Amino acid sequence: MDTRLGKMKKPRNRIPRQFKPIQQLRLWEEVAEQLKDSILSGDFKPGDKLPSERELAEQFKVGRIAIREALRSITNSGFVTMRYGAAGGAFVTDLTFNYLASAYVDLFLSDKISIPELYQARLHVEPEIARLAAQRVTPEYAELLTKALEAEELQAHASLPEDIDSKQTVHLILAEMCGNRFFEGFARSMMAVLRKVAVTVKADYIHPEGAHRPIVEAVLAKDPVGAQEAMRRHAVEFGEALLRMDKEYRQKARGDSQAVSQ
Ligand SMILES: [Zn+2]
Repeated sequence: MDTRLGKMKKPRNRIPRQFKPIQQLRLWEEVAEQLKDSILSGDFKPGDKLPSERELAEQFKVGRIAIREALRSITNSGFVTMRYGAAGGAFVTDLTFNYLASAYVDLFLSDKISIPELYQARLHVEPEIARLAAQRVTPEYAELLTKALEAEELQAHASLPEDIDSKQTVHLILAEMCGNRFFEGFARSMMAVLRKVAVTVKADYIHPEGAHRPIVEAVLAKDPVGAQEAMRRHAVEFGEALLRMDKEYRQKARGDSQAVSQ
């Protein structure tokens, strides 16, 4: 044993303030991670049922509360859906673009991405989507686009959300047609964010009637450059409505948080 220590000066406490204690993953978090990994690596396919709570508790050697908490967490993040009743359980969800879109909406709600950024990105992506779509017209897509355009021009929608959905359909069909799933994922996510904002501020000024007609006509004429240009014009024209919506959304959010704190 080193006896010199006793003669040394007492060491000063030099731990900087910014260190935080190391947190161990909680049991349920570790269970959730492992379940997610096994879904992503394909051990469980979409539609498969995960083992029961009891079986999972035995395999993980943890209590059922941790299993329940882990299942709740991966349900919230969209990996499984809980079904109830005799044939119930946790079923693996088919990961779809909804998963990505809801992540974008969450990022928007927590102020990590903004409408002006969305607008800027849209100016690049959507004209390209329209250009690509004009090169991939099939009779089925032509019919879908024509019907979507007619439906939105009817203007006989019962509610604002329905109206928004009908105005977004043309964009979503084009996104699917373009054949690039990164673009499609982005377009779907962008539409989900816009829908959220528009519904929240009850924006009924989004699209003038017939706004999509020049785009659809150029795509149906298989005119990539015309479609690209028509979509770019649409995105620019829509930009003002977008920034107005954003302003109203922020005012509303501020008002709501003040109302809560009072
Ligand atoms: Zn539009």
